[in-house]
Amino acid sequence: MPGMIPFLPLCCFTFLTLVTADTMETTVVIIGGGPAGVKAAQDLNEAGVSFILVEAQNVIGGRVKNTKFADVEIQEGAAWIHGTKTKGTPSVYNPIMDEFNKYNMKGVVTDYGHYRWFDRDGNELDSNLVDTWGERLDEVSEFCETKALQLWDDAEENGITNPEPGMDTSIQACYDEFGYIPAGTSAEEETIAKTWQWIAVDFEKTAAAENLSLMNGYPLNGDYIHEDVFITDQRGYAFFLRQIAESFPANSVKLSQTVTDVTYSNAGVTVNTDGGLEVKAKYGICTLPLGVLQKGNVQFDPPFPSDKQDGIQGMLMGSYEKVLMKFETAAWQDTLSSSWCPASRMGLHQPR
Ligand SMILES: Cc1cc2nc3c(=O)[nH]c(=O)nc-3n(C[C@H](O)[C@H](O)[C@H](O)COP(=O)(O)OP(=O)(O)OC[C@H]3O[C@@H](n4cnc5c(N)ncnc54)[C@H](O)[C@@H]3O)c2cc1C
Repeated sequence: MPGMIPFLPLCCFTFLTLVTADTMETTVVIIGGGPAGVKAAQDLNEAGVSFILVEAQNVIGGRVKNTKFADVEIQEGAAWIHGTKTKGTPSVYNPIMDEFNKYNMKGVVTDYGHYRWFDRDGNELDSNLVDTWGERLDEVSEFCETKALQLWDDAEENGITNPEPGMDTSIQACYDEFGYIPAGTSAEEETIAKTWQWIAVDFEKTAAAENLSLMNGYPLNGDYIHEDVFITDQRGYAFFLRQIAESFPANSVKLSQTVTDVTYSNAGVTVNTDGGLEVKAKYGICTLPLGVLQKGNVQFDPPFPSDKQDGIQGMLMGSYEKVLMKFETAAWQDTLSSSWCPASRMGLHQPR
């Protein structure tokens, strides 16, 4: 959730001064070394603006993080580049694809077309039924995407850039309007239909369709479509982020420094860490994750105004658990990319 305090004009001059061993001065202090913090630092660096990036972990990357499992370097967090290109002509590459190509990274396109569905007892479900409901999911997705774009057109025609709740609707309401699961659908088919919906919506967004905004939820993959690339590069998905950070000036990245408090005014920003580091800057960029902001782990002085606090507390922080398993032998077909097990309780959403 990047936010800038206060506004950074492009005419900033460059200076970076070490005041004492534990106090540094710079133009912009960036809190967080995940993708948002690294991108902010990259842009400032290219514009010749000095900065200090302060990161709690001992490595750059944030939730893009790799570790060793079963002799393979695997992704603990982000693993896919979702959508390689934009729609339409000319089609523009996802900027992460540019980095992927630049560093000759390794990955495989995820083939969503090969799957098998099993019930909880291990019995395989009728693949024709599964395919039929997969096609119905495509239809409802297209319907909801068109509706979301129509709602945005209506909002823009009225000069509204931040729609009121009354203008929006939930993704579930859109599925219901389409009549995704008609009355009289058998229990078996209803389970398949709901599982498809869970895969397309809940799994992607980590929230239930009734709690998700249609206008902000569609299109599901944002502006980028075509293919999803699963990173297999043994240097890790975050490799390109670490390479970008390598190009930053000496002393501009401070790792293993957890920010504890931030004081800000029109005169500037002071950031303090648990490691005793103090960074004084003219401007600050905060890329702390929503969950960190919600927990109040970092004290802001003055506290954020009530509209920002309402925004922070009003959003849900999605929660993912990634389970990795090593099999003795490959119990699946060579072409299989996924298998799903429909259950009555499909995934848990963030408890509030
Ligand atoms: C399990 C999982 C799977 C995911 N899969 C995908 C995927 O396949 N594809 C995809 O595109 N996205 C995926 N994501 C989402 C993606 O990882 C995030 O959208 C992305 O990392 C957000 O970047 P960010 O810079 O905003 O935040 P973060 O990556 O969270 O970076 C924030 C940084 O702030 C630091 N920080 C926190 N508190 C402090 C503090 N007090 N002081 C200093 N630093 C602090 C953190 O250590 C972190 O480095 C996944 C996320 C998870 C958790």
